[in-house]
Amino acid sequence: MKTVQMEDIVSLSKRRGFVFQSSEIYGGLAGFYDYGPLGIELVNNLKTLWWNAMVRDHDNIFGVDGSIIQNPLLWEASGHVAGFTDPMVEDTITHKRYRADHLAGVDTADLKELAAILKDKKSPEGNPISEPRYFNMMMQTWVGPVQDDAAKTYLRPETAGAIFTNFLNVKDTMRAKLPFGIAQIGKAFRNEISPRDFIFRVRELEQMEMQYFISKDMQESAYDQWRQFAWHFLIDKIGLKESSLSWHEHDANERAHYAAAAHDIYFKFPHGTKELWGTHNRTDYDLSNHARVSGKDLSYVDEQTGERFIPYVIESSVGVGRMLLAVMSDAFVKESVNGEERTVLKLKPAIAPYKLAVSPLLKNKPELVRMAREIYNDLKQDYGMVIWDDNGNIGKRYRRQDEIGTPFCITIDFESLDNRSVTIRFRDDLKQERYAVDKLKQLLNKELSR
Ligand code: ATP
Repeated sequence: MKTVQMEDIVSLSKRRGFVFQSSEIYGGLAGFYDYGPLGIELVNNLKTLWWNAMVRDHDNIFGVDGSIIQNPLLWEASGHVAGFTDPMVEDTITHKRYRADHLAGVDTADLKELAAILKDKKSPEGNPISEPRYFNMMMQTWVGPVQDDAAKTYLRPETAGAIFTNFLNVKDTMRAKLPFGIAQIGKAFRNEISPRDFIFRVRELEQMEMQYFISKDMQESAYDQWRQFAWHFLIDKIGLKESSLSWHEHDANERAHYAAAAHDIYFKFPHGTKELWGTHNRTDYDLSNHARVSGKDLSYVDEQTGERFIPYVIESSVGVGRMLLAVMSDAFVKESVNGEERTVLKLKPAIAPYKLAVSPLLKNKPELVRMAREIYNDLKQDYGMVIWDDNGNIGKRYRRQDEIGTPFCITIDFESLDNRSVTIRFRDDLKQERYAVDKLKQLLNKELSR
């Protein structure tokens, strides 16, 4: 079994409808992608699992859905206008720009350190490069008909902004007491200097974020709680291998401008071991700054002690696209079965785009097709994502379903007509078993909840 390469995932994504280059017929646009029919199912499954685990399973976490464009003062207060920067260098001949830290091969944003490492370095095209400098990654736009400075605003670079500005609204409407969290799933935009590695680093991304409001003395336990949450979610809910994950603690040079501590979960992506999910201690940085710039009182009064203070925040933040790339690369297997190569996505049934495939053994036998249709229609009512597949021989159908991660294929054959039984073929171990039709759902309920 060979290790998965990025080309394997890119090619499968395109061939089977997971991810397409955006505006492909016009040559695409660097850093932008579209999800296809199977990709969006997988994405929706990941988002639903996250939302259920985060919001529905916690009495003290509340959801919001904020707008992408907000009052620009928000981004002044959050420090993004001044500090949401990455170090970059420019190829002095082609004027192409590159992330200075990536070119230097270090995790730092310190310009002096980068300049020293990059002193004699050339661009990937072999040309001299400029001194490193900071580049602001916020995407700008204008609201209204006049494109002047007064109308200038930004597409949000992270979803957290609308959570801080809704702190009072949620606290008051939900009568929330500390500790409580606000969660959100939504798009964010970053004008990344060098988008690359397929959907790993893009300019339009989707984040699943939760900001947990606490008193100062809860910092350590809450930080630990949300680090553990992320780790267990990845393994237990979406089925990543524990051996694919590791912890990475940010040092001071690497941390975002708002963070006092940051631990990332790193995943073994095909292009290297990189950040998947961040847990950050944002301290009282955000609410203090929003209180200062907006002039609103964002403090909290502890009912027991009467103490008034600005809450601290522990943040849990993960990208949907990076999670999709992680599950696809973790589940991707190319193996040889009876001398033939098969590609299989060993996805956890809970996240697989299609749960079941139903096939009549032969598509030109009306009695087989009739019974298969009846079973298909019935299963579709209960399991939603069921695919009808009667194309080619049965071996080909299995291979096709293996490639898109369908965990179970159900075939209706001549014996089915005699005793109302079907064959179930299991994706991962290729086992085939006969089941009575009226016992089928019992088995599927058990298998699909794994
Ligand atoms: P990186 O160091 O990779 O640039 P970051 O530390 O800036 O990421 P955060 O600001 O902590 O990332 O964002 C939280 C999460 O959002 C990341 O863990 C990642 O999953 C996702 N994310 C951030 N930037 C991108 C991007 N350009 N493309 C895809 N996902 C991203």
